[in-house]
Amino acid sequence: MAGEPQDDCLFCNIVAGRIPATVVRETETTVAFRDINPQAPTHILVIPKVHYRDAAALAAGAPEVAADVLRETQAVADEEKLDSYRVVFNTGTGAGQTVWHAHGHVLGGRGLEWPPG
Ligand code: 5GP
Ligand code: ZN
Repeated sequence: MAGEPQDDCLFCNIVAGRIPATVVRETETTVAFRDINPQAPTHILVIPKVHYRDAAALAAGAPEVAADVLRETQAVADEEKLDSYRVVFNTGTGAGQTVWHAHGHVLGGRGLEWPPG
């Protein structure tokens, strides 16, 4: 069920501490940790502790937690001293989503082209 922990979900297992991650921030509702395959000098994932398959489902099902995730992307950028950065929520296979637990990528520390590829 949406919002409930999923045993077979990678990010639910990171939230539960069953799979290790380099956690940089944690709040009551969110965890932020370094991406295992960084695409920029700073590449941090901000996730809700509750399980929703993507950012759209999170925004619909738990809008207050979606706001927490967004707030945490800014807190991460501040901690990493990023003045310019990008927040990305890949949503759907065609957009490159590979992990089906909502997450925002915070990317920075290098020039970022716009529009992206
Ligand atoms: P997506 O492609 O779904 O938008 O992003 C999933 C992200 O999760 C990818 O950037 C990928 O590198 C990252 N990732 C996949 N497995 C792991 C893992 O076990 N640990 C961490 N820290 N990141 C992971
Ligand atoms: Zn999950």
